[in-house]
Amino acid sequence: MSAATMQGSALQDAVAAARAAYVAANPESRARYEAAVRVMPGGNTRSVLYYEPFPLCIARGDGARLWDADGHAYLDFLGEFTAAIYGHSHPAIRAAIDAALDGGINLSGHNLLEAELAGIVCARFPSIERVRFTNSGTEANLLALAAAIAHTGRRGVLAFKGAYHGGVLTFGAGPAPVNVPHHYVMAPYNDLAGTMAQIEAHSRELAAILVEPMLGAGGCIPADPAFLAGLRAAATRHGIVLIFDEVMTSRLSPSGRQGLLGIVPDMTTLGKYIGGGSSFGAFGGKEEIMAQFDPRRVGALSHAGTFNNNVVSMAAGIAGMTKVLTPDAIRILNARGDALRDGLNALFRRHGARLQVTGLGSIMNLHATARADAAPIRSPEDLAGADPLVKDLVFFDLIARGFYLARRGLIALSLPVGDADTAALMAAFDDVLATRSPLLT
Ligand code: PMP
Repeated sequence: MSAATMQGSALQDAVAAARAAYVAANPESRARYEAAVRVMPGGNTRSVLYYEPFPLCIARGDGARLWDADGHAYLDFLGEFTAAIYGHSHPAIRAAIDAALDGGINLSGHNLLEAELAGIVCARFPSIERVRFTNSGTEANLLALAAAIAHTGRRGVLAFKGAYHGGVLTFGAGPAPVNVPHHYVMAPYNDLAGTMAQIEAHSRELAAILVEPMLGAGGCIPADPAFLAGLRAAATRHGIVLIFDEVMTSRLSPSGRQGLLGIVPDMTTLGKYIGGGSSFGAFGGKEEIMAQFDPRRVGALSHAGTFNNNVVSMAAGIAGMTKVLTPDAIRILNARGDALRDGLNALFRRHGARLQVTGLGSIMNLHATARADAAPIRSPEDLAGADPLVKDLVFFDLIARGFYLARRGLIALSLPVGDADTAALMAAFDDVLATRSPLLT
């Protein structure tokens, strides 16, 4: 047996033992999952949350902490996939929701709150001259694409391999079978020459270029600034609507990644934390594009939605954005994320571990790599060749030590996660790598 094969089978044994310990430690989560399987396909209503052998059932959260149904406590390093930037039960947001409930929900009309939140969003993001609200980031992207198609009179949508814009706008090597049936043109992320070839070949049919300034679900792979600038120039040249999906990246600065880079798209989509932790989405952009939805206009586009202006999301959003997520708080949070990512990568190098963390600011993703000295990850293709069991083992070892993150490796810091907490995560990684040596190297 070769050394690599022996290491592979030792890794399999270690993962099997870690899973068995997980099963033994979590009987209540398992029972909840088995009950759910009887009424939901695979016990699941949100695909990203499933992992084998069964996912933890989270019973409650407070500040930076979560507790599962078996009573284990975790430091929450997932932060609801970037939506829970405020942590759990922030008093200012709690008070705003309570006040909204006191005034009655489902008011059947315009209310006192929606224009205030719209004003906050327009003031923060340079590209958003007018905005409309939705209930999710998925819907925001659907509406932004509809606006671009109506505005240009063209049907094509340029999207990137490995991108994620919502449940029905998912792109791996190509569009997912559940996607809305647009006329998609696929392009390679972070490859400006390859993308320009697609844009030039399809320029007359393209209504929109839809791009994440950093691939989020695709593994926290930042776009090169020159790549985004190239898209901006090409969109202008060909009259294509450039849409930045900043559902995740809007939290990287007070004005999103667009503000950091000084690149202004024609439209921007938002979601997640901007509703203060309640369901939320928004799309906005140039006045002339958004004016298509002005109901005073003859032939205006319709954009309905019972809960678009729901008072819970509006009130929680206003409180969060004005009382908690100040520009200084955003900068401190992202600086803490940069320090954590640098620290983890230095730790992996010291151990010679087959691991790398990518990302920007407070959002990052742990990746297994084929080799300990692998080059930095710049595209989804760079993730090929790694042994998925490496990440499995790290995941179960961190859960067992009380650190919660996504099974796929996403880490998103929330405001209550402090320097002592990130130091504790670093120490836990150090311990896992020392304990598991040489399986992870
Ligand atoms: N775009 C991006 C970049 C996202 O990360 C997500 C959610 N993970 C979405 C869109 C979809 O948002 P939602 O889950 O609110 O529909």
